Amino acid sequence: MRRTGLGVAVQANRLPRRPKRRMILAEQVLLGVPHAHGTRRHPVVRAVMVGAVCLLVAGTGVTGFLVGTAKDASALSEQTAAAGAANYDSSASSDEALSQRIEKINVQQTVDEQSKEIDQLQNQVDNAQKNILNALMRNLNTKLATSRGTTGYKTYIAQAKVLISLNSKVVSFNKTSAAKTVDISSYSSEISSRLSHLPTLHPIQGDYSGYGWRIHPIFHYRQFHPADDVGSSKGTPIKAAGAGTVTRAGYYGTAGNMIVIDHGNGFETVYMHLSKFKVSVGQKVNKGTIIGNVGTTGASTTPHLHFEVHYHGVPFNPTEILLQW
Ligand SMILES: [Zn+2]
Repeated sequence: MRRTGLGVAVQANRLPRRPKRRMILAEQVLLGVPHAHGTRRHPVVRAVMVGAVCLLVAGTGVTGFLVGTAKDASALSEQTAAAGAANYDSSASSDEALSQRIEKINVQQTVDEQSKEIDQLQNQVDNAQKNILNALMRNLNTKLATSRGTTGYKTYIAQAKVLISLNSKVVSFNKTSAAKTVDISSYSSEISSRLSHLPTLHPIQGDYSGYGWRIHPIFHYRQFHPADDVGSSKGTPIKAAGAGTVTRAGYYGTAGNMIVIDHGNGFETVYMHLSKFKVSVGQKVNKGTIIGNVGTTGASTTPHLHFEVHYHGVPFNPTEILLQW
């Protein structure tokens, strides 16, 4: 948006507010909101541009007015001179002073009016931005199923996938130069806060398997194994799958050294057969905090992590909700 003359003078005071307008476009790009107008501009931006054009036209009108006034003053001076009036000089100079005052008043009125108009347009831009942010937040606030069974678990998995996707878009956007002028921190922190409490992070690298019915490797009876077992070397650091509070950290017979983390929303994760603890009961952890080390304590034949995800007390397949490495 380029302006000349008056427009530049008015625009100059408002430079610090310009990034807000760009934010709308950035949000559209960031979230892949379909651009309903194709290559056409956002309605509010178009309105601002129309305002700018009006300004330009008005500015041209003012210039015409000034030129006309000067010509009139000049003609009047000539007539006065032709009439041979004795007070020619003083009359001419007072006419010029008068026309200059009129010019100033006219210019000031135009500037005031256009300034008001730009304020109104800016308000429209601000409101549009608020509406977009509200809409984004409403999407995040979509009520999740309170079902305690598979439906509830699947709903959280679906939301986790959406949050991970949005989060990666935010990360990509923050690497662009636009991020220096566009502030989306409130939106991105809301996304990462929601994502942090879902146990989506693989606690260690490796192959996750073993959830379901199987013959117990030590006791040789058919049992439902409510976890994935991940083979790893002794001492491998174990990360918390999600943010939460440690509710158990101790030795529990066949489970060996075990940690349980409560993530809220009905989610708990369980880590068994550890060689060492790095956290204690009551401690708050973030997603990714090192909580202990892989071991083979309890009923275990080789160093591995036995990992369970509980939703309202029921163990579900961890592989489905472990979406991040
Ligand atoms: Zn196991």
